[in-house]
Amino acid sequence: MQVVPHIVIIGCGIIGAAIAYELSTIANVRVTVLDRQPPAQAATGAALGVLMGVISQKVKGRAWQLRQTSLQRYATLIPQLEAETGLQIPHNPQGVVMLCFDGAEREKWQRLIDTRHQQGWELQWWEAEQVGDRCPQIQPTGLAGAIYSPADRQIDPTALTLALVAAAQRRGVRFRFDVEVQSLVAGEQGCEGIETSAGAIAADWVVIAAGLGSTAMTQVSPRPVTVQPVLGQAVRLRLDRPLGLPEFQPVITGHDIHIVPLGNAEYWIGATVEFPVGQQPVTADPDRLDQVMQGATALCPALAQAELIDQWSGLRPRPVDRPAPVIELLPGYPNVLLATGHYRNGVLLAPATAIAIREFIAKS
Ligand SMILES: Cc1cc2nc3c(=O)[nH]c(=O)nc-3n(C[C@H](O)[C@H](O)[C@H](O)COP(=O)(O)OP(=O)(O)OC[C@H]3O[C@@H](n4cnc5c(N)ncnc54)[C@H](O)[C@@H]3O)c2cc1C
Repeated sequence: MQVVPHIVIIGCGIIGAAIAYELSTIANVRVTVLDRQPPAQAATGAALGVLMGVISQKVKGRAWQLRQTSLQRYATLIPQLEAETGLQIPHNPQGVVMLCFDGAEREKWQRLIDTRHQQGWELQWWEAEQVGDRCPQIQPTGLAGAIYSPADRQIDPTALTLALVAAAQRRGVRFRFDVEVQSLVAGEQGCEGIETSAGAIAADWVVIAAGLGSTAMTQVSPRPVTVQPVLGQAVRLRLDRPLGLPEFQPVITGHDIHIVPLGNAEYWIGATVEFPVGQQPVTADPDRLDQVMQGATALCPALAQAELIDQWSGLRPRPVDRPAPVIELLPGYPNVLLATGHYRNGVLLAPATAIAIREFIAKS
């Protein structure tokens, strides 16, 4: 009788869900996803879903490869998931406009434009007057110009995660959202399985996609990974009418503040970046949110008239002393894969992470 390998994924944020869906395309494996809470509740539930790949300054190596792979995959993934599940995944394909306030940076941006053209991606420089024509909601004072990336986009992270779960479920992946994973069980061949609040579960492969919970999971390794929380606050605002031109509603970003159109004259604004101090748990600082709101209103004065309809915070999983994300074998364990520490780009990098994990398992 053929033995079907059992792959256990710990965590069902955007990363665990994307991996589950990707693994559901491999024949002859059994996949189980475990989480202690429903999907998309932790960092994923707080995210704004802005995918800044082409417009990022990452131009080579792993950082660019992951971004490029994700952007290419997103183009087919969204229609595929919508067709498979019948669920709507709100997304904005109108690109990202990044405002520039320092004329001296023009050269740096031109180099990026040239590099992206060589790589087959479009990126445009807009003079300040062109920004005024295309995004009249933006305050022109001090503006040097903008970079426009038509290929970057925005997607609702919770809706995407739920669609990935639904599609993976239809393809036979098992999900349990009431199970706390306590530890990996070490054996002679690596990891034999996991201890959970629902008892021991045997596994041939374990994928740790537990965000901040990954630190505890890796303590069995001679080289554990530490993932620290970096808090982000954001808000949802409603206006009487859409900002700027109703037919052109890209994500606008300036001074690291995103203005994210959601339709119906509603916008997400965020996010703060708040690090923990010492060993104290990081808590949301109202002054930091005020600064973001003031910054957003300075970029786009019409936001001063908006009504606040929601406010939240979340904790981004940031790997300590190493670049994000961590996608590799857990040292000492040839059958435990880490897919964690995506920090500020987990939504962007989820498809590429899932492909990397599938390729890893498929070739082993
Ligand atoms: C305010 C804010 C804005 C953001 N904006 C963007 C953006 O615009 N674009 C972008 O790409 N990224 C953005 N991010 C970052 C993004 O949210 C994260 O990188 C991403 O969500 C990480 O996904 P994850 O699945 O690894 O972690 P999480 O979503 O945190 O999921 C981890 C899961 O593991 C589970 N878990 C942990 N430990 C255990 C355990 N022991 N047992 C069982 N289950 C466990 C948790 O319950 C959780 O469901 C933003 C984040 C924040 C906070």
